[in-house]
Amino acid sequence: MIQLFMPLNFLGFVYREIREALINIERLFKLMYQPARVVDAADATELKPDGGAIRFEHVSYAYTEDRPILKDVSFEIPAGQKLAIVGPSGAGKSTIARLLFRFYDVTEGRITINGQDIRSVTQESLRRAIGVVPQDTVLFNDTVRYNIAYGRPDASEAEILRAVRMAHLEGFIASLPQGLETQVGERGLKLSGGEKQRIAIARVLLKDPPILVLDEATSSLDSHAEKVILDALNEVSQRRTTLAIAHRLSTIVDADRIIVLDGGRIVEQGSHAQLLAQGGTYAQLWTHQQQERIAAESALVE
Ligand code: ATP
Repeated sequence: MIQLFMPLNFLGFVYREIREALINIERLFKLMYQPARVVDAADATELKPDGGAIRFEHVSYAYTEDRPILKDVSFEIPAGQKLAIVGPSGAGKSTIARLLFRFYDVTEGRITINGQDIRSVTQESLRRAIGVVPQDTVLFNDTVRYNIAYGRPDASEAEILRAVRMAHLEGFIASLPQGLETQVGERGLKLSGGEKQRIAIARVLLKDPPILVLDEATSSLDSHAEKVILDALNEVSQRRTTLAIAHRLSTIVDADRIIVLDGGRIVEQGSHAQLLAQGGTYAQLWTHQQQERIAAESALVE
């Protein structure tokens, strides 16, 4: 019997290992697919981001020649400030973030960080300078600790605990059977959207980059979860040059500057108060979202 069991057991082990490897490879391809399109210049230098000031100068971009997506987009995010981009679906908001990562090169114009054209620096140094809190965080089939420290495997215990506290993950981790050593992913615990986002926030806090990209952070959360995430996001965006792509305007009222993108062009820009006073697209979006929120809250009370 044992002679039969051993090979079967071994086969089961091999099957699980291969399956996990395939899942990780699939994720790796998703992550690596776009960056393969651009290559470093022969004389590429290291990016010296300093405070991470960003400038888009007359940037146009088309994924395919016949369909321009961004048209003459110019804006500036001074070091340490927060700029939010809002606009309808398909306006080109995520494309702006992809160009900043240099997943693609601009068709016209240029993008600089601290005065350096991002085409003249190594991609490795560019991506080291930018942290992301994406819509959907990729988790690895490993422990919570591994998932948090991913990107900074040399982080000390004290640094990990600090990131956990600042990302408002303490209560969540205390509720897990094995705390930081609990397995997550396909073979372990499934995390909610908000918990995954807070893991992403903890990762960024450990990576400690001068630039932060927030991609529709809080789009699918209830009010309480949104508040927890917003507090954590405020921690992580302190003193970092932040580009926030948002659907819910309530998450970006505190931005230093907001640009409204429509059909690949900037149609309005200013602070929340200035844009409300202008009474244009932003003001209409704001009124609409406030009405939706009130309707959703009264539906809960009924
Ligand atoms: P949403 O709010 O729905 O996420 P968005 O404003 O972020 O939208 P983008 O993702 O920047 O919009 O897309 C802008 C346009 O570019 C869309 O019309 C989309 O179809 C097109 N697009 C996006 N990625 C590609 C691609 N890889 N190849 C070709 N077209 C693309």
